[in-house]
Amino acid sequence: MTQSPPDGLQENVALAPLTTLELGGPARWYVRAASENQIKDALQWASSEQVEVLLLGGGSNVVIDEGGWPGLVIHMDTRGVRPRCVGNGEIDVTVAAGEPWDPFVERTVGEGWVGLECLSGIPGSVGATPIQNVGAYGHEVSHTLQSVRVLDRTTGLIGDVPNEACDFAYRHSLFKETPHRWVVLSVTFRLLETGVPVVRYPELARAISRDKTTVSEVRHTVLQLRRSKSMVIDPHDPNRRSVGSFFTNPIVSTEQADAIAQAAVGLGAVKNTDDVPRFATDPGLEKIPAAWLIEKSGWSKGHRQGPVGISTKHSLALVHHGGATAADLIKLALQIRDSVHQRFGVTLKPEPNLIQIPWNQ
Ligand SMILES: Cc1cc2nc3c(=O)[nH]c(=O)nc-3n(C[C@H](O)[C@H](O)[C@H](O)COP(=O)(O)OP(=O)(O)OC[C@H]3O[C@@H](n4cnc5c(N)ncnc54)[C@H](O)[C@@H]3O)c2cc1C
Repeated sequence: MTQSPPDGLQENVALAPLTTLELGGPARWYVRAASENQIKDALQWASSEQVEVLLLGGGSNVVIDEGGWPGLVIHMDTRGVRPRCVGNGEIDVTVAAGEPWDPFVERTVGEGWVGLECLSGIPGSVGATPIQNVGAYGHEVSHTLQSVRVLDRTTGLIGDVPNEACDFAYRHSLFKETPHRWVVLSVTFRLLETGVPVVRYPELARAISRDKTTVSEVRHTVLQLRRSKSMVIDPHDPNRRSVGSFFTNPIVSTEQADAIAQAAVGLGAVKNTDDVPRFATDPGLEKIPAAWLIEKSGWSKGHRQGPVGISTKHSLALVHHGGATAADLIKLALQIRDSVHQRFGVTLKPEPNLIQIPWNQ
């Protein structure tokens, strides 16, 4: 049966202005969905017309090809924040997917609720945070996330996925594994109504420099640190067009980490193997900072390659300076990936979702 087009359906809509990189071609079809019914209508229309769907939030973790998206883009714009006391000094806050993330975090901090303050300043929407288990300064959304309300596109059913079933890991979740299956409709976080925030991350702890702090102070300090690395969106910052970190930090076996350390000494990148930064994650596994690998492979902050480059403040962030194509950015990313692989035998993986762009080239 033919489905009538969803309200507000548009054709050939530019996507670049809807992304923080400001790159990429148009959407063949586009609809802004401000209610769950609009999302369902849009999905039904796409299925009856056999067009592929791309969900878009704040566009801060996507790189879209110049060819754009040949199907329907559903721009998630649902709103609503519902707090509910659950006893024991805890509060569950259910937030619609389209709510912008940082204003929501600001509100929790304003209320004195504890749990999300370290995740201040991250762009994008609430609904995208479980996708890659957004994290910063020693905290990940999985630490406070209670459940995710999803629409399963394979069955059309709506249900809650509890935290334990989300398969959360570093920049990973069930939803990232099978992206065409899930639409995140809302997320419920369990926060403390009051209390002293836990500061785990050494750089943040040093910047706060006292034992007892407040959520406001943590937010303020996180924003300061993030600003110093161009990790908040600021229209006056020349590094502003990015997706934040372009690569995830590789997690390797202890033997591989030892081999990287030996290679680093052999290449004269460090004096001693102990000088290589490495952090145990799970038994037998270690995280090596991608920024360190990139710098030790000869790339520096501020490197320019025509209209793209590396941020002057953060070697993990690739920046569009204006007038570039997605291909320019990806070319630089692949050069960095290949030189790190050549030097250290580690293959860096992109953190953002590459839309219609092959990575294994
Ligand atoms: C300056 C800067 C700093 C950043 N810092 C951090 C950081 O510290 N930590 C971190 O983890 N990330 C960081 N990011 C990356 C990014 O902000 C986050 O990943 C954010 O959660 C992406 O949200 P978004 O709404 O912009 O997602 P989008 O870019 O719109 O989408 C990302 C992916 O999620 C999917 N998606 C979006 N909404 C939904 C939904 N409702 N249901 C199902 N799928 C959906 C999209 O299809 C896409 O595949 C940073 C980015 C920038 C530009």
